[in-house]
Amino acid sequence: MPNFIPLEIPIYMTATFLNPLPTGEPSISDRGTDLKYSREENPTVRALERSLADLDGFEDGLAFNSGMASISTLLLSKAREGILMGVDAYPTTVALALHLRGMGFRVKLVPIKEVVDAVSSEWGLIFVETVTNPMLRVPDLPSLSDRCEEKGVELAVDNTFASPVLLKPSKFASYSIQSATKYLAGHNDVIAGALTSDDVGELWEWRRRLGTILDPFRAFLVLRGLQTLELRVRRYSQTALEVAKFLEGCDLVEEVRYPGLNSHPDHRIARELFHGMYGGIITFIPKVDPERMFRHLRVVRPAPSLGAPASLISRPLTSASSLPPSLVKEMGISERTVRLSVGLEDPRIIIDDLKRALELARAPSQEGGVPSFISW
Ligand code: PLP
Repeated sequence: MPNFIPLEIPIYMTATFLNPLPTGEPSISDRGTDLKYSREENPTVRALERSLADLDGFEDGLAFNSGMASISTLLLSKAREGILMGVDAYPTTVALALHLRGMGFRVKLVPIKEVVDAVSSEWGLIFVETVTNPMLRVPDLPSLSDRCEEKGVELAVDNTFASPVLLKPSKFASYSIQSATKYLAGHNDVIAGALTSDDVGELWEWRRRLGTILDPFRAFLVLRGLQTLELRVRRYSQTALEVAKFLEGCDLVEEVRYPGLNSHPDHRIARELFHGMYGGIITFIPKVDPERMFRHLRVVRPAPSLGAPASLISRPLTSASSLPPSLVKEMGISERTVRLSVGLEDPRIIIDDLKRALELARAPSQEGGVPSFISW
């Protein structure tokens, strides 16, 4: 026994564990499983999993090597029972669902507002995002949850955009997944995924077989991010509301989607569910060419992610390009749709940067120049 105790969890960077121990006893993880190989269990990863379960209000959790690894592991484990999914979702998730359907599994995609009515006992799993990517729709979770319970169907939510700060998924769902790459890790330097539930037994086996567990180093980084999660999401929500109000009043912007605005179609349900915060993502349609606008930004960075310390902006059409055009249209994504993830900068700096870029993008002759954030 060492005569020191670290305050933070050590990074157990080891593939294997001595098993059996010199005493002849087996090594046992705190989950009660044999601790022998880091593709199955690892104490740093376990520390993260306990924190994730705590945050979401579930009994247990599993950490994955990406958000897509958590989604693919869950969907594969449920595929033979039939999956009903809201079509308003991260395009790669939709692409995976279509692929599973192509492989012969029963998978149906319906608009998010039709999911409640479509729930029936012929489905094993219902999958929706609690704030959809990129169109920021908010499903009526209380009704959906009641309906799933009534029909004996499990509900899984992707809580990436809301994070557990806005919404405790255990109040409504049997499973919650997140791209931990985003708000959980929070520093734009990790790809990771999370899944929480009261029962992860079968999924633990699937993760072991598919080899989709997170590694200890990234588990440590996500754990570090969790320590400031609440502060960051609170700040993002305040900033995003200010920026959304600016965009709503800007004559170079055609349409703004932010659940905190009265004009948002799901504002009422978002207000009921999210404790007065609405997250850090704004989707809008500028009247100017988005690519021209991006070239004039000096603070906000064109990059296809979210939940980073810096503001990031992207065109959802790019990530939806592998989907059939009719589906992209059904999702409401257009050529000019832009998704902004506000960062931790002063909101006035973000607003000034957007205003300047929108105005310069309108003037045909202006050059972009080199953005100040390219410093290395
Ligand atoms: N779910 C949502 C809502 C996302 O936006 C993303 C990625 O952007 C994912 C899942 C996939 O996460 P990852 O990129 O960590 O695999």
